[in-house]
Amino acid sequence: MSKKTSIPVSTLGTPRIGPRRELKFALEDYWSGKSDFVSLQEKASALRCANWARQRSLGVDNVPSNDFSLYDHVLDTCVMVGAIPEIYDWQGGLIEPATYFAMARGDTQEESCCGKTTQKGIPALEMTKWFDTNYHYMVPELSSEQHFTLASTKAVDEFREAKALGFKTRPVLLGPVTFLKLSKGTGAGFDPLSLLDRLLPVYGEVLRQLRDSGAEWVQVDEPCLVLDLSDADRAALKKTYQVLGKAVPNLRLMLTTYFGGLGDNLQTALSLPVDGLHVDLVRAPEQLDAVIAGANPEQVISLGVIDGRNIWRADLQAIYDRIAPAIASRGAALFEIAPSCSLLHVPIDLEQESDLDADLRSWLAFAVQKIDELKILSRALGDGIGSVASEFRDASAAIAARRKSTKVHNRLVTERALAVTHDMAKRQSPFDIRRAAQQEKLGLPEFPTTTIGSFPQTTDVRKSRAAFAKGTLDGAGYDAFIQTETEAAIRWQEEIGIDVLVHGEFERNDMVQYFGEKLAGYAFTKHGWVQSYGSRYVRPPVIFGDVSRPEPMTVKWSQYAQSLTDRPVKGMLTGPVTMMQWSFVRDDLPRRDVCAQIALALRDEVTDLEVAGIGLIQIDEPAIREGLPLRRGDWKAYLDWAVECFRLSASGVRDETQIHTHMCYSEFNDIIEAIGAMDADVISIETSRSKMELLDAFVNYAYPNDIGPGVYDIHSPRVPTIDEMVDLLAAATRQLAVSQIWVNPDCGLKTRNWEEVRPALINMVEAARMLRKSM
Ligand code: GLN
Ligand code: ZN
Repeated sequence: MSKKTSIPVSTLGTPRIGPRRELKFALEDYWSGKSDFVSLQEKASALRCANWARQRSLGVDNVPSNDFSLYDHVLDTCVMVGAIPEIYDWQGGLIEPATYFAMARGDTQEESCCGKTTQKGIPALEMTKWFDTNYHYMVPELSSEQHFTLASTKAVDEFREAKALGFKTRPVLLGPVTFLKLSKGTGAGFDPLSLLDRLLPVYGEVLRQLRDSGAEWVQVDEPCLVLDLSDADRAALKKTYQVLGKAVPNLRLMLTTYFGGLGDNLQTALSLPVDGLHVDLVRAPEQLDAVIAGANPEQVISLGVIDGRNIWRADLQAIYDRIAPAIASRGAALFEIAPSCSLLHVPIDLEQESDLDADLRSWLAFAVQKIDELKILSRALGDGIGSVASEFRDASAAIAARRKSTKVHNRLVTERALAVTHDMAKRQSPFDIRRAAQQEKLGLPEFPTTTIGSFPQTTDVRKSRAAFAKGTLDGAGYDAFIQTETEAAIRWQEEIGIDVLVHGEFERNDMVQYFGEKLAGYAFTKHGWVQSYGSRYVRPPVIFGDVSRPEPMTVKWSQYAQSLTDRPVKGMLTGPVTMMQWSFVRDDLPRRDVCAQIALALRDEVTDLEVAGIGLIQIDEPAIREGLPLRRGDWKAYLDWAVECFRLSASGVRDETQIHTHMCYSEFNDIIEAIGAMDADVISIETSRSKMELLDAFVNYAYPNDIGPGVYDIHSPRVPTIDEMVDLLAAATRQLAVSQIWVNPDCGLKTRNWEEVRPALINMVEAARMLRKSM
């Protein structure tokens, strides 16, 4: 078999964390002082080497370097260009590890929940989601004073490191325009893009050093090309690649775009003077013809044909049929094939999942398997389809089996989903009528106090769950333990005088996993970790089939908690959008249909809770906002079905049953209509740190239902004082009607300890009492 004719395979980036989360453990040892930086570097170097070796042995032609990071590649880019905010007290020169990790984590202890991190002492940079993934990057902070200078030689060092080990790599850089667009300008109205001219020389310097070290190609990532861009953004892109092309001749750039189609940026992308262009053909297969027609005749096109964002085995025949004609007409030498994006977002190797159902396993592909798929395609395209006949047959057989499998398809679920009417997503009466019925039934005071659901997951709680999972604690013993914890929580809430109690969620490992384990259609992996941020990795559940609820999921513990007290106990569920958003979702059904199936399962849970005597039910939807599509034009369609799914889950109950929802973020302006359309009787949100400013969105919209603006920042170990919570509530009363306001923390308390939670909630209850008196 001649290698010459096959199409080169690239990966664009590979998971950093190691097959057994080696990077996490190395970092934690370093942070805790158990090991020093030299040892961390040795372990990181071993991981990089293993990554290069793995990719080479799998036959990858363009093995990346500088895709590795100790924490985050956007942070690496900040450091590369010397974008280090003053508080980190950097004195110039090459960056020290202490400064790097201070930017990543703050200079002391880290506290994290819901994708946010806070510290005592010097704070970390802000963190936010990388496009529409669950990966979080550190947000660069740039002021008009910013001057850039080369402060890290990581890109060059890692290229040389690979070279010394015998790997010729294609280094990866985050492109200058995307870097600036991801940055936060400090100072009113300051646009980081205005710093482009100052930034480009540093990029030029890095590219020159790479070239002088022997790099022939560099991969430059500009995923901003799949976003809505302004004329200024487009001009910045043109300028960038003209300047860099002139500054560093004899170096070829592979400009990569991913997470969607180029759309109205297509002409911009095609006009850039770069030697290669990578396009995402998984999310935007339709752009293939236009890209090929518009590319310049010498330009290499990298075809992103294997899904880098999901874990399903590919339909190789279908991909082949789609791209083979284009390749034949333009010539194999002008193409590469690749995943749609870096493999950072998928787990490393399916081979580790020995416990997974054999059928399900045969439908999956993790990073290693995706590279195999690319190699098979490459051979098919180069040597003819006959050379990989059996591999194509296997892939087709797996896909055919999945299409027919009764593990995937449940006729009852499909039929029920088809029978859903818009009326099912509507409460029986409008909010004012419901409110009266609820008030009559619940008889709550003004400024009712409650919490968001979870209480501290203490070491004891974790230990007993682990023992139960291991089998060293039996079901009865575990139940007895959870009962004791729940009862203690109920008694304590009664004692301090909270109005609406929660059972504490002691039985839950995680707000999605707990439900996923009880729903049909969900599966869990053992080693399927993906990086969420820094050393925090998640193992997203896999939604592989029609979702249904074999039996009630939460009724037992809610009912038990309610049986202990005369005060109302709030039931606690994770909403359909969040259940979907934090999972790997099947690709053989539209997301909105998957979401509706989950909504129906939750609807049954909601009505079962009602029947069991639970008068208030909270359906958490912290992930609604992050599900927003990257392009503004796609928002409405998404929000319409997301809201409809939430309502479908919530609307099976009587007027007097109070539905709560919870969202832990603070940007509502651009989605406030959708929030209003959810029509939850009560919404609790995160507001304590924004000093109630974010209520503006609700006020401008004249949001009619009840709101619990968080008064207690649960991301910090600090105990808020009565006075400061009174002040926050007073601020809320200036914006909202008193009858609308609830009193609660920003989010669940699972990451805190009781020593902090006890005094904080006692103060919170006292603050509510003081407000009642003053009204
Ligand atoms: N009910 C959940 C809890 O309290 C909500 C968590 C969240 O919003 N992220 O833990
Ligand atoms: Zn929350």
